[in-house]
Amino acid sequence: MTTSPRALCGGSAPGKTALDGVRVFDGRQLSEPRTVVIDGGVIGTDAAGAQLIEASGAVLLPGLIDAHIHLHGRDTLEQLCAYGVTTGLDMATWPPQLLASLRGVPGLTDIRSAGTPAIGSGGPHAKIPGMAEAAIVLDPEHARRFVAARVAEGADYIKIVVEAPGEGGPDQPTLDALFAAAHAQGMKAVAHAASHGAYALALDAGADVITHIPLGRPLEATEVSRMASEGRVTVPTLTMMEGVAASRGAADDFAAASQSVAALHRAGVPILAGTDANSQPGVPFQVKHGESLHHELELLVDAGLSTAEALRAATSLPARHFGLMDRGAIEPGLRADLVLLDGDPLADIRATRTIRRVWCGGTEYTPA
Ligand SMILES: [Zn+2]
Repeated sequence: MTTSPRALCGGSAPGKTALDGVRVFDGRQLSEPRTVVIDGGVIGTDAAGAQLIEASGAVLLPGLIDAHIHLHGRDTLEQLCAYGVTTGLDMATWPPQLLASLRGVPGLTDIRSAGTPAIGSGGPHAKIPGMAEAAIVLDPEHARRFVAARVAEGADYIKIVVEAPGEGGPDQPTLDALFAAAHAQGMKAVAHAASHGAYALALDAGADVITHIPLGRPLEATEVSRMASEGRVTVPTLTMMEGVAASRGAADDFAAASQSVAALHRAGVPILAGTDANSQPGVPFQVKHGESLHHELELLVDAGLSTAEALRAATSLPARHFGLMDRGAIEPGLRADLVLLDGDPLADIRATRTIRRVWCGGTEYTPA
């Protein structure tokens, strides 16, 4: 089993390429061997005039989506792309100029972003070196200005850091105002909630998506049933939670996080694969971009998802829940975000690591 991407040869600007004899993941199973056409930036239908790539026995996945990353520069995009992560949903990057420089880079991982996150003045996020001053939200009036500023900057959704009561995050009236302002602007609001106290506040405040999952003891049954009945979505970032538990010298605390994911899954809550990939100084744990998504898929399978469900958690589900209707599946007209594998990840999820080639928007990735 390879753990790093192989040399990826033949990179070029989008033309017309046909992958011949490939078995395609259709969201549930692998197809019989067939031909997939990459026509410019999208999946095409007609192989006439295409450059043929022999891919008998290989497996083709839609490009993987990591639903929780942080961006640090062009290197981040390179790393994600090398590991088949063709879309990254950034959950806090600043300043806006850095973000703008990483949007829409041809041939590399495509991003969406929350921009600057909303945080309280006294929690751990306020102590992250270099944290944007604009991130601190003090009261409900401030909350409305914060959300308006993110919308003006072109944020794709709003990220709100929720802490347990007394731990320095925004108070409940401010949280309520943040989520309400996001919804009034037609934006999805993603809550960071890594502890039990924070999870309850995030549910009450109206979070659409809750990211992270508490350690130490499982979520309450009432919280699980609220997540399901109220149509919430979870991005548990098991890779990050495992790292946090280990960094505290309490690796056993991770079992509860996995149990919570199992319970959310049984209740029918949509689970999205996200890693919290970051190389930020001053955070509890640094998660490697790209490689970590393959570990997250393994942890989701450990928590009880089938291999097909884990693959959907990193393809069609994040596309649906973040409104990315041009990706997440291999169908004519969709973006040609593709990962060609030697192994079969439906048989063994670890086979997502057997990457032969990657295309981002129809351009084959080749290492710089
Ligand atoms: Zn994060």
